[in-house]
Amino acid sequence: MTYILVFLMIGVYGLLAQQPFLEVRPYVPPAEEQYPVHASVDHYYPTQTENGMFIRLDGDSAQAGNPPARGCVHGQTCYDGHSGHDIWMPKGVPILAAAGGTVVWAEFGEGVSPCPDGNPPNGDLAVVIIDHGNGYYSTYLHMDSITVTVGQHVNAGDTIAFNGNSGCASVPHLHFEMRRGAYYFDQQKSWVVDPYGWWGTGTDPIRDMRNFTSVWLWKSSDLIDDGDNGFERFYGPHWQRLQQGYNGDAWQVPAKTEGEQSEHMAMWVPELPHQGQYHIQISVPQVQDAVNQAMYKIYVKDRGGSTKQYTVLANQDSIFNQFFTIATLELPAGARCAVFLSDIVPAGTQGSKVVFDAVRFVPATTGINQKPQPENPLRRLEIIPGKPNPVHLSSQQSYPEFGFKIQQSTTVTVLISNVLGQVVQRYVLPNVDPGEHFVRWNLQDFGGRPVPEGIYIVSIAAAGEQYAQKLMVLR
Ligand SMILES: [Zn+2]
Repeated sequence: MTYILVFLMIGVYGLLAQQPFLEVRPYVPPAEEQYPVHASVDHYYPTQTENGMFIRLDGDSAQAGNPPARGCVHGQTCYDGHSGHDIWMPKGVPILAAAGGTVVWAEFGEGVSPCPDGNPPNGDLAVVIIDHGNGYYSTYLHMDSITVTVGQHVNAGDTIAFNGNSGCASVPHLHFEMRRGAYYFDQQKSWVVDPYGWWGTGTDPIRDMRNFTSVWLWKSSDLIDDGDNGFERFYGPHWQRLQQGYNGDAWQVPAKTEGEQSEHMAMWVPELPHQGQYHIQISVPQVQDAVNQAMYKIYVKDRGGSTKQYTVLANQDSIFNQFFTIATLELPAGARCAVFLSDIVPAGTQGSKVVFDAVRFVPATTGINQKPQPENPLRRLEIIPGKPNPVHLSSQQSYPEFGFKIQQSTTVTVLISNVLGQVVQRYVLPNVDPGEHFVRWNLQDFGGRPVPEGIYIVSIAAAGEQYAQKLMVLR
């Protein structure tokens, strides 16, 4: 009877408690962080093997008894029984609390001796554990000094220690670990969670072993900027800070073309409150020689853990200091969508600078084909439905025209996307006079290629308002 009750409790708790709550991290495999991860969580912890094999974080198999296995994720390693992520960084780098909570452990203690490699430990092992009050505990190991004490409350981002190589760390690194429940010292049931979620293709083995799954625990808001939160730049030699753009800061780097080695990248990851259609919008400041085809990659991770990727080319030399839509997608709730921008641009791109500033996710409340509401006195933009619709791609006579009416001189943006949310064409019309206007689309994409047959979304934006309509293109 007791067993049944315990099992039910775990099951319900597991469902309810798997919510992102750690602050501000990029949506990338852990190897690609600012400081590289050299060993990840072994999802078969502690030593569960399958036909003498164990399965690594990436889902590949390796011979048991042969750790560490190379090439775990993007060239990093993981090894059997490892319950955290080893993040290599120099001695003295401040270690920050991943989220707010109460320090429940903060001391140097005797660790394993001798170490697994047979060598003596490098002094006593530093351990800090923070209780986040929601059943999760974050754990930090190997520091050289600790700046918090037991019982102290910390906020996300507070310095709790400085990196080092105490205990069995041959190289200075942080061992970062997340646990569910107060089972840290229970060797039989150490409830390790991988805070980056399960990146393999099959079922997360931790789910089968522990009755809960590894989840992406990091969160951000739906407006993400360097001066705000959630935006993370990664190491690169040529970041140049600009005191302009959203929140008064943005960054530019030299563009590189496909085939070259990327040196700069950044991620924006929101935590979305609801499932639904969202406009993904970017804002960039005006930068001399900005590229006209910045390559934004949008990742959407589904419940099963697989990831869809969309690539959107956005003109960073067209609209400045105002958000504009680069894609409209159906997105799941939670922290399951990421926008990725690197310095790589397609061949033939004009401009030499890629600009990194802000991204936001706006619920697509103006539905497709929604008519303007005439009783709205604030409306400054009216739409005249495009025609012909449907339109025949082969007919030169029938390029579709889209009309709009504005009350005052302003910039008007016409954005045409396919049903995947990829922007295929954009027209920016600066200083349009008040009155009625029409824009003709020649049914070509950015590269001058005729677009394929299908349904397109034509979105017209001006004076803070935006309306979308469907256009069917036939051959
Ligand atoms: Zn470790």
